[in-house]
Amino acid sequence: MADPQPKKLDLHRREMPKQPPEVRQHNFSEVALGYPIETAVEEARRCIQCKKPTCVFECPVEIDIPGFIKCIAQQDFTGGVSILKNKNCLPAICGRVCPQEEQCEKACVLVKKGGQIAIGRLERFLADWEAAQGVLGIPAMPPSTGKRVAVVGGGPASLTVAGDLIKSGHQVTIFEALHKMGGVLIYGIPEFRLPKAIVTREVEFLQSLGVELVTDFVVGKTRSIDDLLEEYDAIFVGSGAGLPWFMEIPGENLNGVYSANEYLTRLNLMKGFLFPKYHTPVKFHKRVVVIGGGNVAMDCARSALRLGAESRIVYRRSRQELPARLEEIENAEEEGVIFEYLTLPIRYIGDENGWVKAIECQKMELGEPDASGRRKPVPIEGAIATFEVDAVVCAIGNSPNPLIGATTPGLTIGKKGNIEVDEATGKSSRDRVWAGGDVVTGAATVILAMGAGRQAAKSIHQYLSSLP
Ligand SMILES: Cc1cc2nc3c(=O)[nH]c(=O)nc-3n(C[C@H](O)[C@H](O)[C@H](O)COP(=O)(O)OP(=O)(O)OC[C@H]3O[C@@H](n4cnc5c(N)ncnc54)[C@H](O)[C@@H]3O)c2cc1C
Ligand code: SF4
Repeated sequence: MADPQPKKLDLHRREMPKQPPEVRQHNFSEVALGYPIETAVEEARRCIQCKKPTCVFECPVEIDIPGFIKCIAQQDFTGGVSILKNKNCLPAICGRVCPQEEQCEKACVLVKKGGQIAIGRLERFLADWEAAQGVLGIPAMPPSTGKRVAVVGGGPASLTVAGDLIKSGHQVTIFEALHKMGGVLIYGIPEFRLPKAIVTREVEFLQSLGVELVTDFVVGKTRSIDDLLEEYDAIFVGSGAGLPWFMEIPGENLNGVYSANEYLTRLNLMKGFLFPKYHTPVKFHKRVVVIGGGNVAMDCARSALRLGAESRIVYRRSRQELPARLEEIENAEEEGVIFEYLTLPIRYIGDENGWVKAIECQKMELGEPDASGRRKPVPIEGAIATFEVDAVVCAIGNSPNPLIGATTPGLTIGKKGNIEVDEATGKSSRDRVWAGGDVVTGAATVILAMGAGRQAAKSIHQYLSSLP
């Protein structure tokens, strides 16, 4: 077997092939194509297998990173998958959308020399390699404990809880409000960044383990948490942060002004752009302005572009402060999204039929740092910019939907509409109810939602094990 260790430091991070911008700007297929085997092995062999692997300390789910990388270097892909899946049940998803540059890769010892290991790409490689082998084997399952758990919402927090609890022998049912499982992974993040087949595969795997899936079921409307507590021993709430924020400026109720959630759901979940194959048409807009600078804004702008629009991001700070992943900012730039920095919308202007036709913006400059540590944008007096548009997508943030809080007496809800829980266990103020993911933290990341799901599953298992 080849020597997995490099002879001397190799700081040349291997690139991942991508669809060329002029091609991908016209399709919804995945942009990044993944490492071929030889490149993955070369990249893995750069890892120096640190005795104190700083990369692992920054991973919210504590994956044995050097362990799975060593397996790739030795071309033992089966071994790598098994190490990876020991701590991460959704590696194909995390390998694509986790902010690795802010977590494991930022902590890699080689970062100071500019040659940090491409941990995310290697994770994706192993997950895709496993998928290419065909049908997943079902692990040996323990005998049933007879205990029943209801999980609210079908996003990554809930999928993690469901996987961990079913593997501990408990019966698990997931109740999802939409007609498909996956949460933001299905309705939010577009196909060109996260192919839906990957999410569906993970969900089907859980189903094959015996997790029961109930869709079109809105907890708090179809049945309340209290109703479910009559049938189930414990409940995990992973209902996410799906309530969109608006700017509350004049003209926001004009036709053609969307929330990011609505815009992306029409495309991703309802496949509006494939009308008449799907019976849910979307309007093809010529000029779209997206407000915001996070991953959600990038996803909206790049989707609009693919539908043939001139697509423009309006962001009130400068490029340096954009909160989106750098990779996605660069992808958007390469594809031709126009960026208007230091620009704050102040008014939407409508036509005689009630459709938005222009957006008026205040030009800004950067002042002193604010509470977030970023330099605060302040208006430049008299500097106004106007853009003609026929659609606006507001991607400035989300908070948890208030429904479950409003219909569950005794559940403590924080100022931002989040469910308050014990940090270490995810236990809420209500007996037998746990919560985790965006519904607790507000809009965050897939890996943090999964980490919270894992913690809650441990605590739920402990509780269920204490029952007669
Ligand atoms: C467009 C977009 C792009 C993003 N990009 C990234 C990225 O690149 N990297 C990253 O790490 N994170 C990204 N995120 C954030 C990430 O997707 C979320 O942090 C993560 O999905 C949260 O997981 P969750 O399980 O808590 O909730 P969600 O994924 O929101 O899932 C919650 C589920 O609960 C369901 N639900 C809600 N209320 C009820 C109810 N009453 N009854 C039944 N079901 C209910 C919802 O329909 C939903 O399916 C992005 C988010 C968006 C919107
Ligand atoms: S810190 Fe970097 S070099 Fe060290 S084990 Fe982790 S990935 Fe490998």
